[in-house]
Amino acid sequence: MLPVAEAEALILQAVQPLGTEWVELGSAQDRVLGQTLCSPQDFPAQPTSSMDGYALRYEDVQQGIPCELQVIETIPAGKAPTTEVQTGQAVRLYTGSVLPAGADTVVMQEYTQRPSETKVRILKDPQQGEFVRPQGSFARQGDPILEAGQRLRGAELAVLAAIRQAVVPVFRQPRVAILSTGDELVPIQQGPGPGQIVDSNQYGLAALVRAAGGIPVKLGIVPDQPQVLRERMQQALGAADGVISSGGVSVGDFDYVEKLLEELGGKIFIRSVAIKPGKPLTVARFSNPHGPDQLYFGLPGNPASALVTFWRFLRPALLKMGGSLPPYLEVISATSPKDLHADGKREHYLWGKLRLKPDQIQFQPADSHHSGNLINLAGCDALAVLPPGTTQIPAGSPVQVLRLL
Ligand code: AMP
Ligand code: MG
Repeated sequence: MLPVAEAEALILQAVQPLGTEWVELGSAQDRVLGQTLCSPQDFPAQPTSSMDGYALRYEDVQQGIPCELQVIETIPAGKAPTTEVQTGQAVRLYTGSVLPAGADTVVMQEYTQRPSETKVRILKDPQQGEFVRPQGSFARQGDPILEAGQRLRGAELAVLAAIRQAVVPVFRQPRVAILSTGDELVPIQQGPGPGQIVDSNQYGLAALVRAAGGIPVKLGIVPDQPQVLRERMQQALGAADGVISSGGVSVGDFDYVEKLLEELGGKIFIRSVAIKPGKPLTVARFSNPHGPDQLYFGLPGNPASALVTFWRFLRPALLKMGGSLPPYLEVISATSPKDLHADGKREHYLWGKLRLKPDQIQFQPADSHHSGNLINLAGCDALAVLPPGTTQIPAGSPVQVLRLL
């Protein structure tokens, strides 16, 4: 049994970011930026006002307040100034208006009066440069402003638009084939007979692949028949950048995955991990003449085992393949209102719900943690981690918690 951290390190070593491709800005949401991008211009491009008010020369208001200046122009946002501000003059402008040459300070309109069409009275002594956004004060031309590996959400898409990046370089999303193995499985359309169960792993795993930035390729159910399974495993390797199967990795008479991986030429580098649930996790590497090596993840079939091993090992691997920057896991410290128990032999992952209190993060464990119990996983957004050697974390003591994103 490999320690969890060692298994993680081996998996992360075995995967590399896929290449990049170009997508239109409108389709770039949640993709991962493929190149660091530099600003093609200064932001703001010219000095601009950050208030509705009057632009003037600071030296002109040094003689004493109130003072009167001549209003020579109105500059709405979006219009270029046509004149230069001379001594004794001011221009009317608005938030976002370009500051005319000669002016260096803006007085907000609340501190002014207009005794006539052509005059403004300044009632308050401004700071020099007040309410002016100097050219390039947000970013200078050539500054790196978006980093390769960043996930593109609202703010990043807005920045891409501002730099007129109509097509965006992004990392390719890993395509992940998903197989469910087991004679007992039936598809959702079919009412299960005695002893049969619906293949739920396929749906759960596909969703987690998508949430990790991948593209699931659902390949359905495969019976525990070595010839059929072998063929479908090979087909899966041909269809994707990586493969996940669930079931068939334990030591039962019908658990063929490990043997077939070897027959197919895979190099198995993980056969079991000191984790609960999820001990039989099996990972093999296939060399691929057309590209980077492919990984095959044989997950245990029990729903909680399959999902927990995905969260702990596959999500980081998929994030790395998809070009995301580390860290690939979010671990925080929380406290549980109940004692947490483990057998101390393996690293235990206990599912539960996080509650953000004003002064602490609370972890509310699910009522029980059976690897076959899918039902009480629903609604959980965190896994408490009890390392090997720890048999109990008393209520109120800090516990490391992996956030499920
Ligand atoms: P296995 O790892 O093949 O020994 O499977 C262990 C148990 O996990 C099985 O007895 C099923 O109850 C359950 N199981 C296996 N595959 C799935 C699946 N695709 N969906 C839901 N449960 C499954
Ligand atoms: Mg099975």
